[in-house]
Amino acid sequence: MNAQTEFVLGEAAMLEYGAAMSKLMADDELVFLEGELGAGKTTLARGILRGLGFPGHVKSPTYTLVEPYEFASHLVYHFDFYRIRDAEELEYIGLDDLLGERAIKLVEWPERAFGRLPRPNRVVRIRVENDGRIIEQTCDDRAATGNRG
Ligand code: ADP
Ligand code: MG
Repeated sequence: MNAQTEFVLGEAAMLEYGAAMSKLMADDELVFLEGELGAGKTTLARGILRGLGFPGHVKSPTYTLVEPYEFASHLVYHFDFYRIRDAEELEYIGLDDLLGERAIKLVEWPERAFGRLPRPNRVVRIRVENDGRIIEQTCDDRAATGNRG
């Protein structure tokens, strides 16, 4: 287990933090993004996607539950379970199949997934602190080395 805490001030710095994170990630990591509404979870996801080389617009998957991103050598699924009502919606989006794919999975509101998510490789907890955010990150050893084996 590896843990680190950092204070990140402003949206631009948050995007950079995500981009830096993306360089250390394995290509099939399950990442939990935790924090209240407005904490900065989607902003961090944008930073990660940019860092991986996605140039386009990253929208919040609040209504669709999942947005796929396929580009260059990466596949990313960005989930947001904030508005989910029942577990059937997870079957509807084919959650189990998506989880089984070789893809980076970024999950906002993982605690609302009715216990259907496996143990994550990385947990990012964000909380508001004055004008910035405190980010606490914990990852397993495999995630920490960015092992692509
Ligand atoms: P969430 O997805 O957690 O609900 P968002 O990513 O939509 O949150 O961000 C909410 C707001 O917080 C946005 O206006 C964003 O610019 C701002 N924000 C994100 N990260 C930071 C940061 N490190 N410092 C200051 N503001 C931030
Ligand atoms: Mg969000």
